[in-house]
Amino acid sequence: MINNYYYNIGVEESAIRKLFGYGIRRKAEIGEDNVFDFSLGNPNVPPPKAVTDTLYELLKMDPIDLHAYSVGVGHQEPREQIAQAYKMQFNHNASFEHVFLTCGAAFAIVISIGAVCNPGDEVIEIAPFFAEYSNWVKQNYCIEVQVMSRKEDFQIDCEAVDNAITEKTSAVIINSPNNPTGAIYTKKNLEDLAVVLNNAQKKFNRPIYLLVDEPYRFINYGNDVPFVPNIYENTIVINSATKFLSLAGERIGHVYVSSLMKDADKVFKAIEGAARAYGHVCAPVLFQRLYGKCFNIVPDTSLYEHNRELLCKILDECCLKYTKPSGAFYLFVKSPIKDSCKFSDFLKKYDILAVPSKSFGIEGWIRFSYCIPTKTITNSYDAFKNMYLDLKNNNL
Ligand code: PLP
Repeated sequence: MINNYYYNIGVEESAIRKLFGYGIRRKAEIGEDNVFDFSLGNPNVPPPKAVTDTLYELLKMDPIDLHAYSVGVGHQEPREQIAQAYKMQFNHNASFEHVFLTCGAAFAIVISIGAVCNPGDEVIEIAPFFAEYSNWVKQNYCIEVQVMSRKEDFQIDCEAVDNAITEKTSAVIINSPNNPTGAIYTKKNLEDLAVVLNNAQKKFNRPIYLLVDEPYRFINYGNDVPFVPNIYENTIVINSATKFLSLAGERIGHVYVSSLMKDADKVFKAIEGAARAYGHVCAPVLFQRLYGKCFNIVPDTSLYEHNRELLCKILDECCLKYTKPSGAFYLFVKSPIKDSCKFSDFLKKYDILAVPSKSFGIEGWIRFSYCIPTKTITNSYDAFKNMYLDLKNNNL
């Protein structure tokens, strides 16, 4: 008999994929240039030149060595390069022994939850959050507890987190720069969170792990992205080459268990165990080596920044409200219609595709990805203006 739990996840198409699929069909009908698809978070700048150069260099290696299995945790050299980058960039004494190479950030998050949570434990997610978190928490037989961020700036509402923590809380997942809001948590905000978590650890006499999902760390438009292991001891950092090196399909990322954590070795072993139990053998070996060598690259984010400005200008002209993103490549816009699904459908009338916020754990917002060709944004101007007039004339 098939497993209905997995079957239901399989048949349930994500709101983002659904919209993206609709966009493909619509483009076939009315032409590519007439559909303004803001649905997907697929990086649209090519990988930095150094990535391609490094790849060519790596291909000169002995192919038997190059393509052979690595140990489960990954080759030592890239793990050392990542630890070294943390030392240089954040003055943080990271050991390579606490870096585990994974197939992207997604798998890194699943195994990190598995490593520090037991069935029935509660995992706090800060809404709005990346839609897949729910599946990953449930996959580990844990209970998701959603805590809304502050509506005015999408920073963490530390008081609300404090109120949500119980004797069953074993982890809190945060994501900064954030998908879908583009918010970057400030140092003060993270320090306040650390106070809450430290007090709760004492109160309930158990560790509470902070899982920091940061695949957008290096897409930050010059804003500071505090390094959380320097702020809170029980921190696990997750990152990947997906966004900042534009290597989404190559599936390479890592987990770093803070070397400052008292139980770092034990937590790391649990991560190894969780990965093995899921059938992980090793992360793609060619890209392990590439990732280590390229981890200190600062990507050129000027195209995203330019797109952000263009889209903000159009939204301003349409009197749509949003908080200007500090990082990542999403604009989270207040839906002028209470039901954001209805607003998403309304936008479709103008062939503007944007994702309603329900799947991000919040109602009443809509997400625009601006990692798309600049000309799509420029060409969308008339569609936005017509949509705005329609909105106004119909008092929607
Ligand atoms: N976390 C966040 C916030 C994301 O936006 C994504 C992908 O869009 C992921 C994790 C998954 O990243 P990866 O493709 O590296 O698995």
